[in-house]
Amino acid sequence: MSDKRSGKIVVVSHCILNVHSLEDNLAMYPGVEQEVIELLIKKGVGIFQIPCPEIELSGIFRKALPKESYEHPKIREIYHNLAEEITRTLNWYIKKGYKISAIIGAEGSPTCGIDLVGKWKENVKGKKEFPRDIEFVSGMGVFMEELKSALSRINVYPDWIGIPGKSIRSLKSKALEETLDKINSIL
Ligand code: SF4
Repeated sequence: MSDKRSGKIVVVSHCILNVHSLEDNLAMYPGVEQEVIELLIKKGVGIFQIPCPEIELSGIFRKALPKESYEHPKIREIYHNLAEEITRTLNWYIKKGYKISAIIGAEGSPTCGIDLVGKWKENVKGKKEFPRDIEFVSGMGVFMEELKSALSRINVYPDWIGIPGKSIRSLKSKALEETLDKINSIL
């Protein structure tokens, strides 16, 4: 092909390109996750934006919740179907010879976390409150688990990277910098 496309596509969680999908008080940017998007532009990749699974499931007025709240067969079925639909679309790009280089999720999210998810702390007395009673533990969000399985069924194995959100960055000041380095070395 004699045009300028790189043939590389990065799949991103919706809120990386549109922070308005986040629950209240979680956005750190007016519109897009600036440093991440600037790096992707610099790297010359196409950006495929996943619909926000939580909005598809329960709309825009939802509260932030831990993974336990999304670990339910009915929710899994909805996320499974969404992951299958996205995979069918991505498969067109693959059939044309393009590479799905990476999936970029939102670290700590019960839905889009890649290496970390929020869970209720153990031994909390009384009514649990978010984010006070949340801790981040190893694990993948429910939707990303479904997407990973769907992609593996068509033998697609991209790199998986989670962008640290507000809570994780408040716990680890270098979290974003380290993640950008990782993206830079992969793409
Ligand atoms: S992390 Fe996932 S579920 Fe949460 S706002 Fe972003 S796209 Fe939606």
